[in-house]
Amino acid sequence: MLGPVILAASRSDRMRRLISAAPVTKQVVDRFIPGETVDDIVPIIKDLTAKGLELTMDVVGEDITTPEQAAAARDAYLALIDHLKELELGERVEMSVKLSMFGQALPGGHELALANVRPVVEAAAAIGTTVTLDAEDHTTLDSMFAIHEELRKDFPQTGCVIQAYLFRTEADARRLAAAGSRVRLVKGAYKEPAEVAYQQKHEIDKAYVRVLRILMDGEGYPMIGSHDPRLIAIAQELAHQAGRKPNEYEFQMLYGIRGDEHLRLAAEGHRMRVYTAYGTDWYGYFMRRLAEKPANLRFFLRSMVSKG
Ligand SMILES: Cc1cc2nc3c(=O)[nH]c(=O)nc-3n(C[C@H](O)[C@H](O)[C@H](O)COP(=O)(O)OP(=O)(O)OC[C@H]3O[C@@H](n4cnc5c(N)ncnc54)[C@H](O)[C@@H]3O)c2cc1C
Repeated sequence: MLGPVILAASRSDRMRRLISAAPVTKQVVDRFIPGETVDDIVPIIKDLTAKGLELTMDVVGEDITTPEQAAAARDAYLALIDHLKELELGERVEMSVKLSMFGQALPGGHELALANVRPVVEAAAAIGTTVTLDAEDHTTLDSMFAIHEELRKDFPQTGCVIQAYLFRTEADARRLAAAGSRVRLVKGAYKEPAEVAYQQKHEIDKAYVRVLRILMDGEGYPMIGSHDPRLIAIAQELAHQAGRKPNEYEFQMLYGIRGDEHLRLAAEGHRMRVYTAYGTDWYGYFMRRLAEKPANLRFFLRSMVSKG
């Protein structure tokens, strides 16, 4: 019940100011967003890759309001890619981007987001890696998929995300499960109305399995974005049934959540990619992590009371 309330708060400027200024916030945020700058994050990249993990990097930020902010988002990713070039990790470290951070919601936003994200995809390809377009709320998805299709003409390895909670997703999965495509399947993290999305956990889980089966039986490269132990076991079974080898799909989880499981899956020989977010505009990302697990919110509130 708390999830939708927290997700509504994630869009409130007043809550943003309140929570960002709370003295204990930073130490709770650090669990999910382990740095603010590229220099903070490079040691983490080195550490995780040395442990056999792969990464997808997210410079946090979304819903920007000016073209200058969109250009700054592009430049932040380009600076990250410059650092990655020196590390020579190739596709072991890819990028995840939110198109709303590249200007998608501004006037002329579709073209602006495409123009801003293209140089990032080009720079990623030049160092042997790639970019995945995150899925945001359902109103943004037609534009996201169109940008994905456009980018794939020159950079076919560009990935995208689909969300099991949306009714449209089975059809999207069928379209995307084609040779060479990289698709991350997640449950979905936004507050969506009952007209477009399943609301009950068991319905979302069942939809996840239906969509996963489409991806596993298809010709693309499925990326299983979930921490749910049941779905991870089902994914392994479906991969086995589809005759996929361990390098023909991968698991993805968020930094700070079920870290032991990251290492266990990697040690079993699976490709395991950790979605690692960093930067200063962490509010929206952080609030979605609180909404996913109310115990996180209780911990956060308890820390505020005990330190306050
Ligand atoms: C790599 C990756 C990329 C993602 N990209 C997107 C995206 O582009 N668009 C989008 O809408 N959503 C995205 N998500 C978020 C996703 O939609 C879910 O909200 C999130 O993964 C929680 O669902 P779950 O599958 O882990 O299952 P759940 O049933 O929510 O969780 C299963 C178990 O995992 C643990 N867990 C899950 N979340 C948390 C948490 N926040 N804190 C602590 N423990 C937790 C708990 O032990 C829980 O019991 C992404 C998730 C991952 C892993």
